[in-house]
Parts: sequence; structure tokens; C-alpha cells
Amino acid sequence: MTIFIPQVDHSGRAFSSTIESLCCWRCRFCSRPYTSWGSLAGHMREAHGSNVGTKEVMRECLVRAVHFRCPLCRQEMLCDRAVISSHAHSKHMIGMPGMGFLLILFPF
Ligand SMILES: [Zn+2]
Ligand SMILES: [Zn+2]
Repeated sequence: MTIFIPQVDHSGRAFSSTIESLCCWRCRFCSRPYTSWGSLAGHMREAHGSNVGTKEVMRECLVRAVHFRCPLCRQEMLCDRAVISSHAHSKHMIGMPGMGFLLILFPF
């Protein structure tokens, strides 16, 4: 495991060049911290019976944002495996291994 240091672009936002989950999240009901949207969404569903998955809920729970730029279409999104994975599947019809491979081919 290498220690990850996010790059910060001219607008002061942190960008990652990996597909790991790097944002910080906090449950909107009990304030428990999570490092990935997938595990927080699972927790909110199970512990609070809350339907998550909307952009508004995501924004509410986001404590620290790290961004990711798609190597294929340059679209910016949150650096979280669930977010990147759904983008990779719906936009490019590839999985996370394919996305990881593309990042090696097209680093930024
Ligand atoms: Zn909670
Ligand atoms: Zn893309």
C-alpha cells in the first residue's frame, strides 16, 4: 500500500489518479464516519431504513471531497469506487479492472 497524496488543481480541489474510495462521508442520521459511499449507503439503508442514492443525500453526507477525472471522457466525479464504477459501466461499458488499466495507459 502506498500512501496517497491527492493532487490539488488550480481551483483548489483535490484530484486523485487512483480508483480507490478517498472521500470522507458521514451518516446524516447518526454521524458515523465512512470512507466509501457504498458502505455508508448500506449502513443508512440497514440502520435507518433510509432510501439513499440521490445526489442531494450524497451531498449532505459528504465531509471531504476528492475528485476523479475519467481517463476516457474527462468527466469529473467524486473519487469513490461506487461512483466511478457506475460511470464506467453506464458510460463506457467497462468494469473497474478496465478502468484501472486505462489509468495506467492514460495518466494525467
Ligand atoms: Zn447512521
Ligand atoms: Zn468517462
